[in-house]
Amino acid sequence: MEFRDFSLLIRDTKVHGFVDGLERGELLASKCSSCGAIQYPPRSDCSHCFGTEFEWVAVRGVGTLVSFTSVFVTPEHFTPDFSGSAPFSTYGYQPAPVGIVEMEGGLRVMGWIPGVKAESLRVGMRLAPRPEVLPDGRVTVVLAKAEG
Ligand SMILES: [Zn+2]
Repeated sequence: MEFRDFSLLIRDTKVHGFVDGLERGELLASKCSSCGAIQYPPRSDCSHCFGTEFEWVAVRGVGTLVSFTSVFVTPEHFTPDFSGSAPFSTYGYQPAPVGIVEMEGGLRVMGWIPGVKAESLRVGMRLAPRPEVLPDGRVTVVLAKAEG
């Protein structure tokens, strides 16, 4: 998978392996080889010790919703019918909730919350972040309701 399938702006990066994880269905964080700090989104250069070596660790499990909002003019790749008219299609103006969940250990993951109206979201809800490949081949991170 090309990084541009995840980010519209970044095409070349030292954390290219992040999208390989997405392609396998895994969210990856970086773990600094010098100080052990785990960071998401992954950082090739540690913000704690400025180390430049890192390894990948999977971000798994369920997090707690700490904040959310709605995007009213959604990116084209959030449009489910891919008619090609987005972002100015009628769907483009339907609110799309996005949120941030805090995982065990404190990592925070932002994602789209599809299929849910923002009015039904509450801080403290349990949501699981996971990659989702969209019909146009791009990939995004979604926050899905936790089982049980
Ligand atoms: Zn470090």
